[in-house]
Amino acid sequence: MPSSTGADAVVIGVDIGTTSTISVAYDTGGAAVGSHSAGYPLMEPHPGWAEQDPELIYAAVLETVRTVVAGLVRPVAGLSFSTAMHSLIGLDIDGVPITPSVTWADSRSSAQAERIRASAGGLALHRRTGTPVHPMAPLPKLLWFHEHEPELCGRVAQWAGIKEYVLLRLCGVLVTDHSVASASGLMDIHRMQWDTEAMHLAGVDPEQLPRLVPTTTVLPGLTAAATEATGLPATTPVVVGAGDGPLANLGLGAVAPGVAACSIGTSGALRVMVERPAVDPLGGVFCYALTADRWVVGGAINNGGIVLEWTGDALAPDLGDKPQEELLDLAASVPAGSGGLIMLPYLLGERAPHWSSLPRGAYVGLTNAHRRPHLVRAALEGVCQQLALVLRSMRATGLEIRQLRASGGFARSSLWRQMLADTLGMDVQFPAGHEGSSYGAALLGMQALGIVESIDVAADLVHISETVHPNPDNAAVYATLLPIFAELYGALVPAYTSLRRLAADLPLGHGPADTSGPSLKEGLPPGPPPP
Ligand code: ADP
Repeated sequence: MPSSTGADAVVIGVDIGTTSTISVAYDTGGAAVGSHSAGYPLMEPHPGWAEQDPELIYAAVLETVRTVVAGLVRPVAGLSFSTAMHSLIGLDIDGVPITPSVTWADSRSSAQAERIRASAGGLALHRRTGTPVHPMAPLPKLLWFHEHEPELCGRVAQWAGIKEYVLLRLCGVLVTDHSVASASGLMDIHRMQWDTEAMHLAGVDPEQLPRLVPTTTVLPGLTAAATEATGLPATTPVVVGAGDGPLANLGLGAVAPGVAACSIGTSGALRVMVERPAVDPLGGVFCYALTADRWVVGGAINNGGIVLEWTGDALAPDLGDKPQEELLDLAASVPAGSGGLIMLPYLLGERAPHWSSLPRGAYVGLTNAHRRPHLVRAALEGVCQQLALVLRSMRATGLEIRQLRASGGFARSSLWRQMLADTLGMDVQFPAGHEGSSYGAALLGMQALGIVESIDVAADLVHISETVHPNPDNAAVYATLLPIFAELYGALVPAYTSLRRLAADLPLGHGPADTSGPSLKEGLPPGPPPP
C-alpha cells in the first residue's frame, strides 16, 4: 500500500499504554477508520514492583499496526506515537534490553525518591525538570538501580523508555522526544537538554541517555523486519510523538488557553496546556512538553474511580449486579457536603499535589447521625476535592483556568458529573466520542507531516455532547469545605508517619468471606521492603 499525504490519507496513532497498546487510523476530519488493541501483563514480582516485558510490548505494537493496516482501503501517510510516561529500560551495547520495562506504577524507588525530595535541592530539581520527585519517575529508579544492581548498571550502554525501545526496533534509531524526557526528571525543561545535576544524582553519563529530539521529528522509515511485520512500505514516515498525558489533552481538544482536561477513570488527572513551562512554587504540579510552544501543567491522582469501587467492597458488599449505579443512587440521596462528613481518599497514597506514599484514607467529622449514603457520597466528594487541590496548585503557577473538558468512567454518572462541576466551580464539557491519546498522537503526526497546519485544529474537531454548569448552592458548600479538606492532610502527617512505622506489627488479616479488595499498589506499606 503506497504511503500518501493526499486528502484520503490516514495517520495511525499508536498508543502504548500500561495494560495494552491501541492503534487507531484517523482521517484528516478526525474520524477513526480502523482500530485494534493488544494487551500484555503488568508483573509484580515483589510488593510495589510493576514491570513489563519490552518484547511483548513491541510484539503488541506490530500486531496492532499490522491488523489496522490490513483492514484499510486508504493510504497510510504515517505512524505517530503516544506512550505511558516514566518507563525505564536498560539496553546493552547491542540495544538488547537487560532489564524489564520498569513502569510508572513501580514504587521500588520510594526511599530514593523520599531522600531526593527531602534534600536541599529537591524542590529546585522539580522546578528545573518539571517532574515531581516521585518513584514513578526514571530519576529515582536510576538511583535505585545504582544502589541495588551496580553490576547490571555497568553493562547498561543506554537507558531508555518503552517508546524509545519500540522506535529503535521499528526504525533502527534511538532517540527520546522532549515530551517523554520532560517526564523523566532528567531534562532541564527551560534549556531543553539533559540536566547535569540530575544525571550526576542518577549516576548516568550523558552518553548513556538517548539523543533529545522534538516530538514532531519524522524518522526516515521502517527497518526491513518492521516492514515485513507491519505490511507497510519501508518509506512510511514515523513521527516520534509524545507522552500520553499531553496527548490526552490534545485528543480531547483541550488546547486553548484556559481550557483544562480532566479524567476520572481508575485514577484521575487534571491538566491544562500552556505556551511556556511553569511549575507552582510548592512543586504541586508537573510540567510536561508537547511541542516547542505547547506544554501541559497539571497533576495525576492515584485515587479516582478506585474509591467508588472501594466503597462497594468495604461498605456495601450486599448490593446487586450493578453496584456502581446503586452506590451512586445512595450518594444522590443525601445533600452536597455529606452532612459535614469529609473523606480523604488516599487509599493508594497520593500523587498530586502531595506526591507522597505516606497518606492513608480518613473519614473526618463522623457522627452518630451519618449513614451509609453519607459515607459513599463523602468518598466521591473527596475524589473531586482532591482534583480541586490540583486545580489550586495549577492556578498557583499563575494560570487562568475557566473551563474543563472531561472524560473517563465517572462520566457515566450524572451525579458525579455535576459533583465535579460543583467542586471545581466551573463548566465541564463532555466530548461526544471517547477521544484519547491515540487521537492526540495522530493529530501531532498530521502536523509533523504537514497534513494539518497546526494541532490547534483539535479544538474544532472534538464535538461536545453536554456541558454541565455548576450549581451555585452546591459550589458554595464545596468551596467552604475545601480549606478544611486541604488542611487535614498536613494535620494528619504525624499520624500517617506513626502508622507507617507500626504497619509491620498491624497485619490486615481478612474476614472469612473477604478475599477481594483493590490492589494496593502504592501507598499502604507493602510488608517487607523490596530487596
Ligand atoms: P480506566 O481508567 O481503567 O480506563 P475507566 O475510564 O473505564 O477506567 O473508569 C473506571 C471507573 O469508572 C471505575 O473505577 C468506577 O469507579 C467508575 N465507574 C464504573 N461504572 C460507573 C458508573 N455507572 N457511573 C460512574 N462511574 C462508574
